[in-house]
Amino acid sequence: MREPENRTSRRVSEDIGVVAVGLAASVVYAVFEMVVNPSTDISLYFNVILMLAISLFAQSLINRSRRAEHQLAEINRDLENLVADRTEELRQSYGRLMGENQARRLTEEQLRESENRYRIIFENTGTATVMVDEKNVIVLANREVVNLTGYELDEIVGRRTWTEFVGSGDVGDIRAFHRQRRENPEGSPHSMECVVVGKNGERKNILLTSAVIPGTGMHLASLSDVSPLKRAQDQIRYQAFYDQETGLPNKALLLDHLRMAISRRRSRGEYEFAMIVTNIDRFKMLVDSLGHDLEHELLAAFADVLKRSVRDVDTVARLARDEFAILLDDIKDHTRAVRVVERIQRALASSFRINGEDVFFTASFGIVGRCGDYGLAEHVLRDADVAMLNAKEMGKGHFKVFDRKMHEEAVTLLQIETDLRRAVENGEFRVHYQPIVTCDTRKLAGFEALVRWGHPQWGLVLPDSFIHVAEESGLIVEIGRMVMQEACRQIKTWQTSSAENASLFMSVNLSARQFAQPDLEEQTRGILEECGLSPEHLKLEITETVVMKDPEQVILLLNRLKALGIRIGIDDFGTGYSSLSYLQRFPVDTLKVDKSFVGGMARNGNENEKIVEVIIALAHSLGMSVIAEGVETPQQQAILSDLNCQYAQGFLFSKPMERDRVERLFLDGPQKH
Ligand code: C2E
Ligand code: CA
Ligand code: CA
Repeated sequence: MREPENRTSRRVSEDIGVVAVGLAASVVYAVFEMVVNPSTDISLYFNVILMLAISLFAQSLINRSRRAEHQLAEINRDLENLVADRTEELRQSYGRLMGENQARRLTEEQLRESENRYRIIFENTGTATVMVDEKNVIVLANREVVNLTGYELDEIVGRRTWTEFVGSGDVGDIRAFHRQRRENPEGSPHSMECVVVGKNGERKNILLTSAVIPGTGMHLASLSDVSPLKRAQDQIRYQAFYDQETGLPNKALLLDHLRMAISRRRSRGEYEFAMIVTNIDRFKMLVDSLGHDLEHELLAAFADVLKRSVRDVDTVARLARDEFAILLDDIKDHTRAVRVVERIQRALASSFRINGEDVFFTASFGIVGRCGDYGLAEHVLRDADVAMLNAKEMGKGHFKVFDRKMHEEAVTLLQIETDLRRAVENGEFRVHYQPIVTCDTRKLAGFEALVRWGHPQWGLVLPDSFIHVAEESGLIVEIGRMVMQEACRQIKTWQTSSAENASLFMSVNLSARQFAQPDLEEQTRGILEECGLSPEHLKLEITETVVMKDPEQVILLLNRLKALGIRIGIDDFGTGYSSLSYLQRFPVDTLKVDKSFVGGMARNGNENEKIVEVIIALAHSLGMSVIAEGVETPQQQAILSDLNCQYAQGFLFSKPMERDRVERLFLDGPQKH
């Protein structure tokens, strides 16, 4: 910065002042020297003064130059600042200019880089990806598309429309899908499933995910091959809806078809369909005799007959081991179902060649001829099943068409089940006791406990009317436990009431379901302990049919029960199909001759008598005792006595009766009777 003028002139006058003072001081000094030392050469003084004056002047000059230097430095600094300011300004504006240029240069680079990046991603997505223009022409495709379709890139890009790869059934859907995507380009990518047909004709299931590229009308579509997933799904679906053994639809799929038929019937009044349920007669015996490894062949043969007897539109399904169903779709009239059954029966009339053997078998059929009124698929099946069971009751190879009466019976059964549940909760059951006597002397030996239901409206209900419902519903387990408990408690009371009664036993019936209880042994032991009854006074009666269902298992279970010390009796002997070889292995104490043989002894003479004789002899040879049940006449008692039958039970001696009556009539002394 330049110094102001007045300050400079002041500095100059200061310098002159300094020189003047210096000169004056020199002159004063010279005058003083001359006075003090008059001998000194005067010129010397002048020289000194001159020197001083010169040096002072020089000093002044130096000072001035310093100041000038200083000023210059300041100016310089100012200049430098100015230059720096201007430079900064320039730099900034230059920088701005440069920055923009650089930015422009960077964007181009970035673009190239980004494009490169996206190209790499596009090429390496691992998923077939195509870019498609508005006309569905493929403008870009990656290598995966080649792998997927079998076409080379130059056969694809710019040459083909994307829809050319899609299975013909899906083209319309795809076009609609893309159109919709273009019309609504916003939002996340959308997906659809379609079929892509490769160059070699191979069809692949594809999940197409498409996103519209904004402002271009083009879209990017990735094509994921979901064929393996589809196959797995198909497999799962197959397992869920088809029977593995026969390849036939299973119950779930049949119900599904039935539901469709029901809803079709609702929308089309004239549409009608029918249901047939069929079951091979005596299947278990058949398999036992054929050999279990041939069960599959037998079922396959039957399934084949069923399929050949119906049209393709009908559904043949497998419901259970040997139970099948046929849904006859869109039938003109319900007699068609009967004609189909007759056709099947004709086919079954000829033999089947299974493992080199000619095998014959029959089947029973239940038909629901008009299904139009049904609302629930399950009910159609249920009623066809009811009809089939009715047919079975008629013997082998029959069919029954479900009718009103069966329906009413079925409704009654349902009602019984509901009532039974309530009865279990309310304890509506009681036990009656039927005396068992020695055959020759009629001496009281024990009792059979027989359950009765004290129904609030119907009065005393006998077991034949409800035991099978209790069995099917599982309620028998609860009922049976109660009976056993009550019977054991009762016999213990009677035993202790008199020394004469101390050896009386109690027979308790066990149904199949009760027999299958895993804790039966535990339960029985508990009841015996609770009542303080010694085990040999309890006899469990199991029917011949239950025992023969799975003999090996039964032997194990019976042995465990026997280990408790209790007795076992086989009930209704002669009505089932006992294998004698098994009978020998059962740890059984008593055979109960079924009352049908005993009753028949008097009516058709010798034949039934022979049977009873054989049973008694058989029992004795196996070390078992025999009880003849259903003894109604003295004549029957006499025959049995002659045949060495130990015990008898029947109306001749007493009907089953309640506790009080038993006590009054028997326990005061059976000889009174
Ligand atoms: P079951 O074990 O064969 O019982 C004998 C059946 O024959 C009894 O019928 C009895 O009243 C009847 N009966 C006895 N003597 C004669 C006779 O001289 N002539 C005729 N015609 N019948 C006679 P009930 O009491 O109606 O029992 C029927 C079936 O119900 C029993 O047959 C048994 O299988 C079952 N049952 C009864 N109580 C029970 C029980 O507590 N549990 C189980 N699981 N089943 C039971
Ligand atoms: Ca019995
Ligand atoms: Ca019996």
